[in-house]
Amino acid sequence: MNFNCVFDCGFKKNNIEESEFVTHLREKHGKDLELVAKKENIPVSMAEMISVSNSKVFINC
Ligand SMILES: [Zn+2]
Repeated sequence: MNFNCVFDCGFKKNNIEESEFVTHLREKHGKDLELVAKKENIPVSMAEMISVSNSKVFINC
């Protein structure tokens, strides 16, 4: 799976596990996730899921 971090921090990695990206989110974007959760009125865990799916890069080649 390829990921390009939705928070625009420059994190971009190819062929990594989703769990590796989740680790990045939790380490670097704990505050961002809280803000999204608050703004959207959803649980932080859901904000995390949405961020993961929005950061996935699907390449057609
Ligand atoms: Zn990031």
